[in-house]
Amino acid sequence: MDRSRFAGQVVLITGAASGIGAAAAARFASEGAALALCDVSAQRLDDVARRLRESGAQVFHETVDVTDPLGMQQFIARTLATFGGLDVAINNAGIAQVLRPLQQIPVEEFDAVMAVNVRGVFLGMQAQLPPMLARKKGVILNIASAAGLVGAGHMAAYAASKHAVVGLTRAAADETARRGIRVNALCPSFTATPLFDAMADQIAERDKSTRAVAAAHIGVRVPMARVARTDEIVQAMVWMCGAENSFMTGQAIAIDGGLTAI
Ligand code: NDP
Repeated sequence: MDRSRFAGQVVLITGAASGIGAAAAARFASEGAALALCDVSAQRLDDVARRLRESGAQVFHETVDVTDPLGMQQFIARTLATFGGLDVAINNAGIAQVLRPLQQIPVEEFDAVMAVNVRGVFLGMQAQLPPMLARKKGVILNIASAAGLVGAGHMAAYAASKHAVVGLTRAAADETARRGIRVNALCPSFTATPLFDAMADQIAERDKSTRAVAAAHIGVRVPMARVARTDEIVQAMVWMCGAENSFMTGQAIAIDGGLTAI
């Protein structure tokens, strides 16, 4: 495998302190990228950034809430000041919801999910596109979900937010395709991360079982009968953001063990 395909490139990842974002940071670093990482969790982000630097990566990191317009603008400005450019931006930060029927979702929870998952991606792209357009070059990857492609019962707020991410992605791709920018969305199904563990814990509590039993219970809903590993999602991220993937824009690609095929 070519381990230097992102050498000389600056890759920005939001929500990089945990799960898919942290795994992606490690993988892009191993592919030679300089990293700009942000997350709302300061301590965990510090730990991730320190470990990456210890392994030889170039890392700029900052505690940023992706729902904060000024925070995101300043993070992008400081990324540009640090590295001199932005080649790839991955809008990955996201939150789940408490599993429950639509009519029981508190409006505050709906708003919170939409704020991080939709407003966060919107603000991210608003800040990331100008420097990319100025150079007529750049790749944006938004992390949506299988729940952005099909209905997901007891996750109406989350599903609505992820459908919106796909819509934002397609609109941004349409606006920028002739100007050197590719914008795509990745739609994973259940993936073994702290976000997934929290979901499994809810089911375990409801069923009076354990996290492992609940996780297996969720996994069998997938045709491949298991949840994804983060490396399986990250593999697709690397390919979608890579220079060899030069003719794909505006797409929402499922990496989901067959979940959205049935
Ligand atoms: P994790 O919870 O493991 O990681 C997400 C990170 O984003 C956390 O560090 C979280 O901090 C951070 N974050 C949350 N809100 C904000 C915010 N406002 N600003 C900045 N950072 C924030 O989740 P995953 O790695 O599982 O999820 C990554 C993405 O993948 C999300 O968009 C998720 O919706 C999507 N996804 C995940 C799936 C799964 O099964 N795991 C399936 C399909 C899609 P904190 O922990 O403090 O909240």
